[in-house]
Amino acid sequence: EGRHRVAVIGGGSAGISVAARLRRAGVSDITLIEPSDTHWYQPLWTLVGGGQASLSGTRRPEGSVVPDGVRWIRRRAVAVDAEARTVTLSGGDHLTYEYLVMAPGIQLDWNGVPGLAAAVGHDVVSSNYAPEYAPRTWDLIQRMRSGTAVFTHPATPLKCGGAPQKIAYLAADHWRRQKVLGDIRIVLVIPDPAMFKVPAWSQVLEKVAARYGIEVRLRSEMTALDGDARELTVTDHAGGTKETLGYDFLHAVPPQSAPDWVKESPLADPASPQGFVAADKHTLRHPSYENVFALGDVANLPTSKTGAAVRKQAPVVAGNLLDVMNGRTPSHRYDGYTSCPLVTARDRMLLAEFDYDLKPTPTFPLLDPFKERRSMWLFKRYGLPPVYWHGMLTGRL
Ligand code: FAD
Repeated sequence: EGRHRVAVIGGGSAGISVAARLRRAGVSDITLIEPSDTHWYQPLWTLVGGGQASLSGTRRPEGSVVPDGVRWIRRRAVAVDAEARTVTLSGGDHLTYEYLVMAPGIQLDWNGVPGLAAAVGHDVVSSNYAPEYAPRTWDLIQRMRSGTAVFTHPATPLKCGGAPQKIAYLAADHWRRQKVLGDIRIVLVIPDPAMFKVPAWSQVLEKVAARYGIEVRLRSEMTALDGDARELTVTDHAGGTKETLGYDFLHAVPPQSAPDWVKESPLADPASPQGFVAADKHTLRHPSYENVFALGDVANLPTSKTGAAVRKQAPVVAGNLLDVMNGRTPSHRYDGYTSCPLVTARDRMLLAEFDYDLKPTPTFPLLDPFKERRSMWLFKRYGLPPVYWHGMLTGRL
């Protein structure tokens, strides 16, 4: 396959944003390795599961987002040799790079909870984390009139840490409007000691959950599932106890990790149990391989994995790559910015934005960020998708 100046692995939010920025800066000879013919705008999948957006609106052909002048190889990367500077592709060919951008995203480990892989997508079990299941979430929410609904959150790092609870609020608000909320027991299982990493937002979310009568199980995790019996095991890590819970609807979020081939590569951070790629938290450069950068869900950064974080990481990676290509030291710094649009009702949202220090970093500084707002819901539903397709993916924003 020859030698390439810049190879980008992954044509999702991160890979496309960086490639577009490099093209705008005049870099030629950029090669994108991406096997999928579809590009997804995943943040809307929560609203697909909540019946507020269509799945087709979250999908575009990959070819329509690959920047002009970027060479697209429609194959999977299966290995990286960082010493030899080669990527092995599915099918067995190799390509050689001068600079590498790692952006293949996160892996959903459906086999990480016994019984989950067999149950998801069947009977009354769904997940907004995969496009093939998200529309089914809404079908099941609409069908539910009474019984127990369980929403789970994995104990691993995950993309969009708020998504496991947002769908619980959308469902509860629907049931409230249908006047069946009183007949439905809602259990939200969260492995952390609080509902959210930043205490001020956690306090607001506690009130939201209480408003809907949601039972929140903190420090707890779904550790097994029996789809035939409609039963799951919740392990309480604080007390060390296990409880069997019957359900009539289950929204499950799988454990997540770096893709297996990344875990096994020399780029994986030995300090990351899930094998995420090592990167300096400010420059996003690999600590051992100076010609390798990582961003997006695959990078081992001490912040929440979101598309909003990618929006701030992409200019840093592109800028620092240009610095390194021109013999300069990296001059751009990422401060850990991430944002979680916490949908709390069918017409309300909290916009939680913060950095590595968990300091609020509001885009709209005049608005109290601890207040649920209709304007923010409208911003998520109608404002952000065009910003994504036309601003972020084209390297303009
Ligand atoms: P992705 O966008 O997932 O892209 C990874 C790409 O790599 C894919 O195109 C894939 O095909 C490709 N790839 C995989 N393996 C290989 C390989 N071996 N070789 C080459 N290419 C490969 N973020 C927000 O900011 N706000 C939200 O409200 C929000 N809500 C979310 C709700 C849900 C239900 C989900 C699932 C995600 C949500 N996110 C949200 C998170 C956001 O979608 C991700 O953080 C973002 O897409 C990360 O970008 P990425 O490029 O790292 O990964």
